[in-house]
Parts: sequence; structure tokens; C-alpha cells
Amino acid sequence: MSRLLENMNPQQQEGIRSVDGPVLLLAGAGSGKTRVITHRIAYLIQERGVPADAILAVTFTNKAAKEMAERVDKILGHGSLTKPMLATFHSFCVRVLRRDIEALRVGAVGLTKTFAIYDETDQQAVVKQALKRLAIDDKSLKPRVALGRISWAKNHMIDPQEYFLASTNPMEEKIAHIFEIYKKELFKANALDFDDLLLETVRLLKSSGETRERYNRRYKYLLIDEYQDTNRPQYELMKLLAGPDANVCVVGDEDQSIYSWRGADIKNILEFEKDFPETKTIRLEQNYRSTQVILEGAGAVVAQNTQRKGKNLFTTREGGSLIGYYEAPDGENEALFIADRVQRYLREAGGQVDLPRCAVLYRTNSQSRLVEEALRRYQIQYHMVGGFSFYDRAEVKDILSYMKLVQNVHDSVALARVVNSPPRGIGKTTMETLERMALSSGMSTWDAIGHTIEDKLLPARALQSLSGFRRLIEDARAMLGPDFAEKLASDLAPANDASLLSETVEDAEADVSFGFGEENSGFEPEDTRANSFDTSFNFGFDFGPSEEISTIAAENSSDSNAAHGIDSASFNPFAPVVLKRSASTTVERAAEIKMADEKPAFRKPGDAATLPELIKFLNDRSGYIRALEEEATPESFSRIENLKELANAAQDAQERGETLHEFLDHAALVSDADSYSEEARVTLMTLHAAKGLEFPLVFLTGMEEGLFPHSRTLTDPTGLEEERRLCYVGMTRAMDTLIMTRARYRRRYGSDMPEASIASRFLEEIPSKLVEDLGSPPARPQFSGSDYGSAYGGAYATPYPKANKFGRPNGEENERHYSYEDEDQSGERARTQASGLPGVN
Ligand code: ATP
Ligand code: MG
Repeated sequence: MSRLLENMNPQQQEGIRSVDGPVLLLAGAGSGKTRVITHRIAYLIQERGVPADAILAVTFTNKAAKEMAERVDKILGHGSLTKPMLATFHSFCVRVLRRDIEALRVGAVGLTKTFAIYDETDQQAVVKQALKRLAIDDKSLKPRVALGRISWAKNHMIDPQEYFLASTNPMEEKIAHIFEIYKKELFKANALDFDDLLLETVRLLKSSGETRERYNRRYKYLLIDEYQDTNRPQYELMKLLAGPDANVCVVGDEDQSIYSWRGADIKNILEFEKDFPETKTIRLEQNYRSTQVILEGAGAVVAQNTQRKGKNLFTTREGGSLIGYYEAPDGENEALFIADRVQRYLREAGGQVDLPRCAVLYRTNSQSRLVEEALRRYQIQYHMVGGFSFYDRAEVKDILSYMKLVQNVHDSVALARVVNSPPRGIGKTTMETLERMALSSGMSTWDAIGHTIEDKLLPARALQSLSGFRRLIEDARAMLGPDFAEKLASDLAPANDASLLSETVEDAEADVSFGFGEENSGFEPEDTRANSFDTSFNFGFDFGPSEEISTIAAENSSDSNAAHGIDSASFNPFAPVVLKRSASTTVERAAEIKMADEKPAFRKPGDAATLPELIKFLNDRSGYIRALEEEATPESFSRIENLKELANAAQDAQERGETLHEFLDHAALVSDADSYSEEARVTLMTLHAAKGLEFPLVFLTGMEEGLFPHSRTLTDPTGLEEERRLCYVGMTRAMDTLIMTRARYRRRYGSDMPEASIASRFLEEIPSKLVEDLGSPPARPQFSGSDYGSAYGGAYATPYPKANKFGRPNGEENERHYSYEDEDQSGERARTQASGLPGVN
């Protein structure tokens, strides 16, 4: 028997040997599907004498393509001259189009081989143009929102005309028009976007028989991994490439379909057998990756899905250690527990296994923050797949830069980073002018802005945008208390120019005398700033935008995103009140805000804002979160989650007693490259990124309702089934040990009191005989009963719920009572360490 068929079970052998005609290999996780693909490639070359370059294998990510190439190289030896084509869908399409796109030209019309590939910035510029032409206000329809819809349409192979016909509201109709213009503009520019790469290749192979035949002759053997995640254009492409011989082998697992939000369609599996009636369908039932316990646990979870065919999987790796479950008191302890286990594992496995490796998986990117910080405390190096370390993510760096600027307005690097992020109409030319001015007179950019505004050195529009930005930073500084406010005064008002200060004082006094100030009249006159500041504290609401600001917003409304950062509706209980208002406006506004805000942040006079409050203020007032919300793509939601997580980090810092300065230092240290290494044995990644990979030890974290399954899917049965498949993917990455964790209380958007969580339903779906409780510290955060469960529909009605194994209330199993004795006598929020954790606190 061929060496390549040795150590393969009969079904796998069949998958490798059946090289003529269509093959559909459907099998569960870890059953050797990818292994069949790599061995099939080698088999074709070595046993069937197929030239390597007649083979095309397609996967989804560059990482997967690279891994496949390595595996094939290993089997074939590195010496071979020709190599099979191992590509992602997109990289393959670029090759085809660079060579043949001109076959699509009609006469002199059409794209040429030198076409450009537009990235997101280019795409946005085109959409902005389209908005202008259609006279659509880009505040009512954000360019990125339109782009998101256009991409969705393309992934479903819907063209502008069809989009228009299907639209049910004026907004959708507008998008159809934008789509049409966008398409034409790209055509005129000899450009394609990322989605077009697929669509144009499909169009090319459909319309040019000659080209299609050439590719069919060239690539005799086609293989596709992770087939369950193909979308419509990819499916069409597969059919065209398969050609009349249809030597096509697709492998997949419908239980691992996790990309429906990108247009992936499980129907493609069902249609395969229809489109290729002579398909040989092979099922693999042996899992070689995981222990029986892990497999049974994962199988039990996915069995809860109704939309599946169902299949059996067995493993000869009988038994295995039980699935570990750890319920931490809070997110920080959850992360510390993981770091501790990782450390133990690396220490113990180091001697036995050649290459100890483990993975920490999470549902949303923002969850990496706590794990990264914990690993750092343990001095364990880690590596991240498909993303940046938390403090290196663009949006996190932006808000940190805002904070740096609040800390020190003369930090010109920070200023340059955020002055127009999100876009507020401060363009490159304005910045160049300011920087030149700063350079020539030896002042900071901030001071240059000040002078420019005072002496009206730039066109009115630029000045307005700059004042809006300056006000944002000033207000943020004022939040931090009189120290900052006073320092601000000296920053702003050099001895020779007190005009701005005096104006502000006057206005502040005006507000104080406006009936609110009575109780503050004991302040010294010099404290006027603090005085106005405290006035707003006492009332717990904002006085709304300054008139100046609303004027800017109104005047700039035609400019792209100009109103960002100078939002009229944002709520800042700490900002000094500096402008006069008529009584009625203020009172009305006050009433409005009181109604809208259930829990006004009452503070004692003189209290400075906390760090998370500062971040929330910057997130909101800068317009950053709003811009991301409007974008409404999975990526933008993930960015919002990161910004909220940054506020959580700040709350942790606040509790450690850190100042703004110390917090910024901390962030700089965590992101430093020390802890991050490509060779690290610990990999952090989202569940989506973990597809196809395997690790001896896997942690599945944040097993909580609302986190996983994600809150966006809780009321959507289809979405929930996809989350469950994602859980199946995550669990089946584990070879030997699987540990699932959860925090009983978790911070949400910088809250000082973490909120009670409910164990993920997926935990309950695992038979309890497979689960080992790794201990649960008795610690209980000190809350009053009414604070429980507000985020989760009040499921925890009483402060001390009876909990079953997974901490769900009302369960009979493993009943656990929390009593007052558990509480830390000091009344501090208990931070009792999990058993075995060193005293890192
Ligand atoms: P996934 O669905 O997660 O992508 P898969 O079906 O592609 O999984 P592979 O990654 O190909 O599975 O294989 C899982 C593990 O089992 C790998 O370590 C692989 O080397 C091993 N394996 C597969 N088949 C065999 C076999 N016949 N003998 C020994 N080991 C095998
Ligand atoms: Mg695989």
C-alpha cells in the first residue's frame, strides 16, 4: 500500500484515492479532513503522476493556506520543482484577474490588467463622492454604513438593480443609488474592491468560455477545505473551476459553519450533491484529535441544534480528564486562574511534550485584555492570532491618546493622532499650518491652536472645528478637578494673554448667579472655576452644549462628520459651565435631561471624575462610539466592545488607586513587546480565528449568557444555533484538556459595581458527569440586593441565589449557598484568590 495511505482509516483512504469525479467529505471536527486534503495532494503527485501545478487547493485564511503548504512540503520533501497552487479564494482570484481580466472588455471598454485594488479608505472616498452627487447628508447616511450594505449585497451576489427592487424603505433605495454610482466610479477608475475580486472572476469565467476552458485544462484537480463557510460567489467559482471533469473534492463540517454573517451558506453543502449528481459522499467518523470526554461534551452541545443532519463521532482515546469548569468571582480572577493554569501546564508539560502549546479562546476580542494582563503578571509570553494586543488596537490607542492629551496638552504626538479622529473637519493642511507655526515659534501644537483661534489666523470653518476640539479637551481636563482645571488655566492663559480666562470667569459667574449658585457662595472668588464646575455636579446634569458649540455643529453640518466631538446631546455632568443662557432654555434642558437619565451622577462638590468616567466622556463626546455605532458592522461592534473594555481597565486602575498618569504608564507597559512573541507557547484568539487549529490544552473563557452566546443572538434562534456551532468549534480545538471558565460578576462598561452574570446555556448542555468543578472561591462582591442581575433581566432576584453546578439559579444539582459568612469582613469587594493562585493582587 502507498505510504500515503498508511495510518489512514478506510474512509480516509477512500477520500484520498477517489481522485476522479466529485467528492464530498463531510465529517466532524478532528476527523482528519484537512489531513485527507494534504495527503490527497501528495497522492495525486506521487502515485498518480499528476503534475503538481495541475492541483489547486483553496482555504479561507492565509494562515491555513500557509499551514497546508507546510504539511504538503513535509510529505513531499522540499525538493520538488513545481508546486501545487495553495491559495485563499482572494489570492487566487487576483492571479486570475491580473492575467485575464481583459477578456471581459467589450471593444475598448473594460478594466485592464493593471487594475487597482481599493482598500477601505479608497472605498470610502468613492462613497462620499456618491453621497455628494446624490445630495445625501453624510450624517443621515454614513459612508461606512453604505459600504457595509454594498459589501453585504456583493457577498449575496445582488446587484444595484436587484437591491433597488428589493428595497422596502427610502434609506435602502438611497443605498441602491449609491451602490450604482459606486460601481460605475470603480469601473471608471480601473479599480476593484475586495469583494469584486471574487465577483469579477466569476463573471470572467462565466462569460469567457475560452478562459474558463483554459483554467479547467490547467487545474485538473480542485480541493476546498472548510467548505461549510463558502458564500455564494465562492460556490459559483468552485462550480466554474470544477469544469466538466469535476475532479473536485470539498471537505467540511456543517456543524462548524460560523460565518453566516459574511454570507456563508450551509445550503452550499446540500446543493453540491444536486449540482454534481455523481458525487461520492464520504463520512469520517473517527476523531483523532480529542479525548472521548471532550468529544462527548462537544457533541452534546451541538446536538441541541435543530438545523443539522446529525452524525456520529468516536475516538479511541477513551476517557481523558474531565472538562474543567471554573467559576471565578470576577473577570480579573478568571484571567488570573487561567494564567496560573498555563504556568503550571508549561512547567509540567515542559519535560514530557516536545512542544507544549495551549490556547485561550474568547468570543469577543475585547476579552483579551484581562487575559493579557494576567499573563503579563505571571511573565508568560503569548502570541495573538488575527489581531493586535489589546492596547495596540487602533481605537484603544486613539482614546489613550486623548487621555494623554488630557494629561498633557502639549503632547503634540497624541494631539496629531486624535485631532481628526473621528473626522471633525480638521484637515491635513490645517494641521500642517499649525505644526509649522509651532515649530517656528517653539510652542506646542496645542498652543499654536490657541493662538490661531484667538488671532483668527485660519478660515472660520477650520477655527470652529479647532475650538470644538479644544473645548473637548478642556472639558475633559475640567472633569478631573480643580488641579487640572487650574493647570488648564495656566496652559491656556500665558501671563500676557488673560483674555480667555477672564471671559470664562465672567461667564461662569453669570451661571452661578443664575439662581443655582447660592449654596456655593462660600467659595472664594478665585475658585470660580471650581464653583461653576461644582454647580453642575450638584444638579447632576449638564447644561447642554455651549451656544458656541451648537453653532459650530450647525454650520459644519454639511461637512463630513464635522459635528463629531462637538455633539450637542452628550452628557457631561462635570464640564464647567461657561456660557450664558436664558433661564427657560436651561430649565427646560435640565428637566429633559433629568427625565432621560434615570440615575444622575450626583457627586460631592470638589470630587474629581474617575478614570472610567473620563474614558466614557471621551468615548461619547469625541463622537468615537457614535461613529462606530453608525457603521454597524461586526468589526465596528468589536471596536466598541474594546472601548468599553478600556473603561473597565480604567475602573480596575481606579480601584488600585492609580492616577491618570499611572494608568497611561500601565497601558504602555502591557502593550510592550516583551510579553508578545510569535514563538510563544500560549496563543490568544477569538473562537472564529481558531477554526481548523488544535492544541493540547484549551481554555474557553467568558462562558456567560450575553457574552457567549453573544447578546446580539439571544433572541434569534438562527443566531443562537450559530453561536452553538461556534462553541462546538471551540471545544473541539482541545486535544487533551479543556477548561471552561466564567466570571460570576463582570464589569460592564467601566461600572464600579460588576454585574451578576448567568452561566452560559452551553455549559448546561454538557452532561454533568463529564465536568469537574475546579473550585469556586466563596468570595462574593459586596452589593445590595437591588444591584443584582440588572443586565440579565433580573434573573438573580435575590442577592444570594442558590446555584447549580454552573451557578444558575434554581437548579437542584450541586446546590450551593452563599451566606454572609463568605463575605469579607472589611466590606471590601472580596478578591479572594482561587485555590492555588499566588498572591498576585
Ligand atoms: P477540523 O474540523 O477541526 O478542521 P479536521 O477534520 O480537519 O478537523 P485534522 O486537522 O485533519 O482534522 O486532523 C485532526 C488531528 O488528527 C490531526 O492532528 C491529524 O494529524 C490527526 N489525524 C487525522 N487522521 C489521522 C489518522 N488516520 N491517524 C493518526 N492521526 C490522524
Ligand atoms: Mg480541518
